[in-house]
Amino acid sequence: PVMDHALSASRVAMQPDGSRLIKFFFGEELPFVSHGSGVFVYDADGRRYLDGCSGAVTANLGHADPEILQVMAEQAERITFAHRGTFHSEQSEKLAERLGAMTGYPYVFLCNSGSEAVETALRLTLQYWRERGEPDRARFLSHAVSYHGATLGGLSLSGHPQRRWVAEALLHGFNELIPPYAYRFAEGRDDAAFTAFLTKRAAEALDSHGSGAAGVVVEPVGGAAGGAITPPDGYLPALAELCRERGLPLIADEVMTGLGRTGTMLASQHWDVRPDLVVLGKGMGAGYTPVSAVLVSEHVVDAIAAGTASVTNGHTYGGNPLGSAVALAVLEAVESRNLVANAAERGKQLRAGLEELAARHEVIGEVRGLGLLQGLELVSDPVTRSPGDPVGSLTRSAVLAARERGLLVYPATGGINDAILVAPPLTVTAEETDLLLALLDDALSAMSQCTRA
Ligand code: PLP
Repeated sequence: PVMDHALSASRVAMQPDGSRLIKFFFGEELPFVSHGSGVFVYDADGRRYLDGCSGAVTANLGHADPEILQVMAEQAERITFAHRGTFHSEQSEKLAERLGAMTGYPYVFLCNSGSEAVETALRLTLQYWRERGEPDRARFLSHAVSYHGATLGGLSLSGHPQRRWVAEALLHGFNELIPPYAYRFAEGRDDAAFTAFLTKRAAEALDSHGSGAAGVVVEPVGGAAGGAITPPDGYLPALAELCRERGLPLIADEVMTGLGRTGTMLASQHWDVRPDLVVLGKGMGAGYTPVSAVLVSEHVVDAIAAGTASVTNGHTYGGNPLGSAVALAVLEAVESRNLVANAAERGKQLRAGLEELAARHEVIGEVRGLGLLQGLELVSDPVTRSPGDPVGSLTRSAVLAARERGLLVYPATGGINDAILVAPPLTVTAEETDLLLALLDDALSAMSQCTRA
């Protein structure tokens, strides 16, 4: 009874709707989801939403895809789980083979979430250095505006004040590199000068850690923090070269950008960069199953194979037969339906439409991104480039105004700015893209009316 009392007391305080479930935002009114079909999601009251952000840039095939559902049902009837310490599974072998063939990497480690895969990439890199007799190399470097996951390693890499603060006491300050975020950090430099500036400062940062530096972790196009931050063209190749000169692994966190989202299989390919490790998640399971992976280069695995010859950590569900079969079906769909090309094509249409909106809506400070990962920087004043007051308020009103009109967009404030992501499923058609743009136009008009009022 005492326990019951305590629970109900905290429940009343926390959640006005009386729910026991701890949710993302306490007390916020959200619709209950009912079902989905293609790019549309329906709530329990029958309202339809165009999923203009693929959930959390995840549902790359749209919802309720019949081919995926069939594979899921068939695999579920055979076997859903077998521990990989006991059995190999044909499904995970095939998945690794397919991923390798699609991306050009020889080895694959399977996990269940982006955060787990980011941790795994850090751990594999640490093991790489230990096996080579350099255990003190434990300092990673990442960008000051970035998001790499909710676990302690991922958060240590992340430049995102709101997400970091609760765990700050346990985190490393890996996020020390100047972000390739021209709108707020170029300070009048053109692309070439900004690239030179970023590269020089990154080299200084790496060298300041000397023989403690372990590797660099980068989102090729930023996602959840800042909103589709797109580096100047020379930057990623220059960063890769800095790493190569120093023998440091470059780790691309392609959890959001990977597997076609930006119009190439991996976003790093836009700049012909081949990272030593690549982290995948989100679109790999496309919302049908929690699955993620680390793609690993030969020399990293060789060092481990020449040493202890085992990877000492994994996750219980990693590589389970059900998740692997579903992810394999997702990858097959990405290939057989030419979705990478569709992302590039529809990405052009979306980008042109967003630019056109930016010409009419003062709240849009910048349009940026690649393929179907587009971001809008939102500003309260286009001249001073000020974000909302408080920061985050413009993001929130854009998300709400869009939702009220039946459009889902993703909040991507980096803590210092306001931004949303527009990132529909890779299956989106030309007509659906037009509808998305029309709904967004309405939402932005409603927003500016509120701001003026
Ligand atoms: N890395 C990047 C680039 C992400 O965008 C995210 C999630 O938004 C993560 C890692 C963490 O992935 P998850 O939420 O699946 O743990």
